[in-house]
Formats: sequence, structure tokens, C-alpha cells
Amino acid sequence: MNDFMKEAVKGVQGLQPYQPGKPIEELERELGVSNTLKLASNENPMGPSNNVKKALEKVSSLLGLYPDGGGFALKEKLADELSNDSITITSSQITLGNGSNDILDMVARAFLCEGREAIYSEYAFAVYPISVQAVGATAKVSKALPVTHSSNPYGHDLSSIFDNITDKTSVIFIANPNNPTGTWLTANELENFIKKAPNDIVIVVDEAYFEYVVEADYPDTVQWVSKYPNLIVTRTFSKIYALAGLRVGFAVCSDQIADLLNRVRQPFNVNTPALLAATVALDDKAHLQNCVAINQRGLVFWQEACEQRGWAYIPSVGNFITVDFAQEAKPIYEALLRQAVIVRPIANYGLPNHLRITISTEEQNQQCLDALDKVLA
Ligand SMILES: *Cc1c(COP(=O)(O)O)cnc(C)c1O
Repeated sequence: MNDFMKEAVKGVQGLQPYQPGKPIEELERELGVSNTLKLASNENPMGPSNNVKKALEKVSSLLGLYPDGGGFALKEKLADELSNDSITITSSQITLGNGSNDILDMVARAFLCEGREAIYSEYAFAVYPISVQAVGATAKVSKALPVTHSSNPYGHDLSSIFDNITDKTSVIFIANPNNPTGTWLTANELENFIKKAPNDIVIVVDEAYFEYVVEADYPDTVQWVSKYPNLIVTRTFSKIYALAGLRVGFAVCSDQIADLLNRVRQPFNVNTPALLAATVALDDKAHLQNCVAINQRGLVFWQEACEQRGWAYIPSVGNFITVDFAQEAKPIYEALLRQAVIVRPIANYGLPNHLRITISTEEQNQQCLDALDKVLA
């Protein structure tokens, strides 16, 4: 029994710590296996651009100094990248985070407290409840679309989210695409929702997998931030840019909201290697395109593999696929560990029969599938 439980704020009492994917070292230590394949945290198997690796070789001489607390170079570069003929994004509209999770926390601290409500969907990303409840706010979880839905099973149900709005609602979190389902909303669906929602509610559109999505009617929500001053778009360098270990993400929004986020941001929240790596990573478009192409082939591989075996899967546009094994998935997960393959159980999301598998290279996808075939035989 934790003596300090009753001293903690109520929201925190009800939380469980975030469960990360099992680290490779831990598995190898526990089971004595080697050459472990980790497909548990949606990391990019290709690793970062060679430009990034080269740039980081020189960073050790800078480690004694505080990082640039304003992230000047990276914000300038992002502003430039995100602007085009129809919109201009300025650095003042960009907030840098220690991963985009840091941004979610800033949003919660700036806009939520006891007595206020935040809405997100069933099966939505597990960091939303942590950020919301940690500041004592109330989480309203809207029902997801049914499993039988024709185009978007398990997806965010925007009309259910809308129905959960009250005069206490301060923030709505929408993951597009969502993790762990891989489900997504079209530009029309999402913009109609933003138009309809009261404009004093902050709407966070979490686009951690933005660069991976190739669907034509998937929105580039950054294009909308000048139209909707209550919109915050978050993106990250953890996924396609393969910089998860450095922790850097960002938000794009109106100047007014960026100003508020910066008031609660820790002064040096993004470290020097991360700032440098992210700035350089943006230049390597060829690497990005290559990673998208590999992921597309991997998605097709897994869809076909699932169909051939009669496994139901949630249609995904991200770099992962979530498979329904129609039986408790934990023993399958554990048997895979003994084959030195780590995938992600998602019972904590209310999906005890599913496993989430990160899409990888052709060779690694096959290795994971072979291991699955073996443990299910
Ligand atoms: C991975 C992920 C993030 C990004 O986390 P970082 O803190 O940027 O590493 C954010 N949202 C979703 C939905 C994710 O899956």
C-alpha cells in the first residue's frame, strides 16, 4: 500500500504509469535470447538520415552549454518547410517539445484543471489520459465507431465526441491517424467537426504519423491553423525521422495559443543534439521518401499475410498494424518473446485480443510473420 496515495491529487490516484514497449536489453537479459527484433514502439527500422549521424558526431563539444531555449534555428527551418504559396507559418506559431508528448502536457497545464473536461476517443493514444488526469481535469471518453463499421472500424466517432461537449469542455484530443488503431479521418470529416465545435475549445490534432500517410483525402491540418485559432497540430521527429531517442516534437497553432504554451514550457525542454538532429533531418527528403515507400510495401505485406491466414486486422495508414487474433493475445505475445520478437500487447487499451506490430523492412516483416506462424501452429 502506498502511504502517499491519499496525498496525491485525485486524477493521479486513478492513473497507471505509461507502459512502454519492452526494451531489447531487458528481454535478452530475462530470456537469454539474442538478435532481438523489436516491433513494439513504432520506431523506424531505417534509422535516421546519414546527415543526422554526421551532424551528431560534432555535438559533444557543445554539451557543456545550455541548449538554445528558443530553438531558433529549428523553428525557423520548420516555419520555412511548413509555409507554401497559400499559407505562411511563422516561428512564433511553433512550439518545440521534448517529444510531442511534452506538448500534450503543456496543453493540459495551460488549459485544464479540476472542474474542466477533456474529450478523446475510446482506443485513443494512452498519453491523453495521463496528461488530462495529472492536472486534475476530467476525461470524457467518447465511444469509438463499431468494429463492424464499413470504412473506419475502431475509428474516432466525431459525432460521439461532439455529443460529449459540455460547457466544461476545454480540450479535445484527436489522433489522426490514431495509435494503436491506425484509423484516420478525412479532411472533410475533420474540418466539418472543427467548424462545428465551439471555437473556445482547444482542439489538438495529433499527427505523429503524418509523413507516413499517403491517402489523398488525408488532411494537412497545418494548412488550417490561421483559419481556426483554437487548433493545435502536433507532430514529432520520433516516428518517420527516427529520432525517438532524442525526444523532439512540435506544435503548430495560432500565435495566441503558442504564447500560452510557451508560458508553461520548461525553459530548456529540447536538448542540443535533438535541436541539431531535427534541423538536419528536415533536409533529407530522399530518406523520408524511401521510408514511406518501405512502409507502404510493409503495410501491403501484412494485410495480405493477415488475409491469407484469416486474421482480422484494423485497416491502418500508419507504420504499424493491429491484428485481432480472436483469442487472448498475451500468450501469443509471450511466445513471440521467446522467439526474440517483441510486439505490443494493447489490453490496456481495452483490446485484449489484439497485438500491434510495427511495420518494418521486408526481411524483418517476414521474420516476425514466421515467428507468429510458428507460435500459432
Ligand atoms: C508516438 C506517438 C506520439 C509521439 O510521441 P513523442 O513524444 O513525440 O515521441 C504522439 N502521438 C501518438 C499518437 C503517437 O503514437
